[in-house]
Amino acid sequence: MRWNDTLIPTLRDDPSDAETNSHRFMLRAGLIRQLAAGVYSYLPLGLRVLRNVERIIREEMDNAGAVEALLPSLHPAELWQRSGRWDAYGDELMRLKDRHGRPFALGATHEEAITSLVGDEVKSYKKLPLTLYQIQTKFRDERRPRYGLMRGREFIMKDAYSFDASAEGLDRSYKRMYDAYAAIFARCGLTFRAVEADSGSIGGTDTHEFMALSDVGEDTIVHCRGCGYAANMELAVSLGGEGSPSPAGAADSGEGAPPVVREIETPNVRTIAELTRFLGVESRRIVKSIALVADGRPVVALVRGDRELNETKLKRLLGADSLDMMTETDVAEKLGSVAGYIGPVGLPGNVAIAADEEIRGMPHAVVGAGAADRHRTGVRPERDFRVDVWGDIRSAAEGDRCTRCGEPLSFDKGIEIGHVFKLGTKYSDSMRATFLDDTGRSLPYVMGCYGIGVSRLVAAVVEQHCDDAGIVWPAELSPYRVHLIVIQKKDPVQAELAEKLYRDLRRSGVDVLFDDRDERAGAKFADADLIGLPIRVTVGKRAADGIVECRLRSEPDSFELEAGKLYDFVRNA
Ligand code: ATP
Ligand code: MG
Repeated sequence: MRWNDTLIPTLRDDPSDAETNSHRFMLRAGLIRQLAAGVYSYLPLGLRVLRNVERIIREEMDNAGAVEALLPSLHPAELWQRSGRWDAYGDELMRLKDRHGRPFALGATHEEAITSLVGDEVKSYKKLPLTLYQIQTKFRDERRPRYGLMRGREFIMKDAYSFDASAEGLDRSYKRMYDAYAAIFARCGLTFRAVEADSGSIGGTDTHEFMALSDVGEDTIVHCRGCGYAANMELAVSLGGEGSPSPAGAADSGEGAPPVVREIETPNVRTIAELTRFLGVESRRIVKSIALVADGRPVVALVRGDRELNETKLKRLLGADSLDMMTETDVAEKLGSVAGYIGPVGLPGNVAIAADEEIRGMPHAVVGAGAADRHRTGVRPERDFRVDVWGDIRSAAEGDRCTRCGEPLSFDKGIEIGHVFKLGTKYSDSMRATFLDDTGRSLPYVMGCYGIGVSRLVAAVVEQHCDDAGIVWPAELSPYRVHLIVIQKKDPVQAELAEKLYRDLRRSGVDVLFDDRDERAGAKFADADLIGLPIRVTVGKRAADGIVECRLRSEPDSFELEAGKLYDFVRNA
């Protein structure tokens, strides 16, 4: 492709709104342009990368026995009402009406559409297992679209759905998809980790997220080098560092007598840090009380002062679908308490108290007293306040150890590029999608769903494969293989050699981008670095001797090569 014939609007300067490397380089290299918040056009170079990713995905999906289909983006509301998600999905679902006023949604995901299709068309166990996939645009009205393709409101997803006759069958389908995902991400050149993930309100069943390791990732992943345990922070379990967990009631600071509860003045002391300083106690001697509303019910969650409440774990422990922080007004009305000074002692009976296991062993604790500028000391769990439900509701933290092998855990940031999920019969039950087994019984399909953020994956690849000057494409994803530059287009010797190389390479099946612009050499080199094709070939002064200059984008140095040997070099590079 000749530069002059295509559209590669490179930018010299960083766009002011692009915070991450992938976002700014994809804009600067002319791969994408924004049309609205979280809505992007793919320009010719960007589209070529996307097509490469899609090709890899199709190959690996087909290898794994999945079959491609394409479902509509426009879904009648009735479809989503049947699964109950028309209401449950919330504001992320883009909704619209047709000319007759009938409600529709733009597909955010396709469990409903596929379950309805397969429910109508597959009636017998003989057609199972069946895995269908598609590569398609999804719409989600994200609260915070950001980082370019990383979190869009319109984005490209590969989604697959497996249908099996039994749970064992689902295990096999799941494993095949899991392995295919690992192969896809490896071929895309990603450093990634598969981690155990939260299965949300479906609960109980397997789910893994594939995370590309990156500092700009929104997820935190917990990993044990000792045994390989890896989980999303949302559900990662851990053993506390020193001093925890301690046996119930143990006196850990030498005092033998039971603690006495005292109410003390703590003027303007609200946060754990302020309390630690004011009282001179360690934060792990304090119990933090967090007021929330779970499915409309008031809840106070208790974690140690040096811990963070993990809302995903709490939701799971309570079996709640929704969890929100309580407003200050509700704190006053429902708890009879002052925000900033909430404590577990004497809470009204209708307030559920959920406590983290680490609190159980605290011999005495400092807690809020419910009134402004007051705390209580010497408080002992289950003597001085009730706990309705105990569980692990804290987030794992630096210094914690692995529950399986005791080794220290490490923490990394990750970008979720894929997600595999055992749905079980959630959708086939709610949508009454059944098949007949070999004895003629009608049974719901046992389903799995499997997603890859295709456009997000491209951003993750750029995030992992760039330097100060621009992108460094892994070979399989690069929009072209060779970046051909002619220094002096007006010099007939240079022009002729460059034209010949362009022709010959293309004839040999090599994808070439030929920068035939009347631009300064410096600008062409800068653009070549920015765009990041694996091999740069420059035709310059030594064209008369049949010599060109080559550089691999991943290497700092260039070298000279006889033009006649270029094809062999490109083939083997
Ligand atoms: P997230 O937690 O990032 O919002 P999700 O759990 O909503 O992701 P899924 O519904 O599992 O995502 O979608 C499958 C895949 O689609 C994700 O693993 C991710 O790679 C991608 N994806 C999800 N939302 C977006 C988005 N707004 N923009 C781009 N890719 C997305
Ligand atoms: Mg999401």
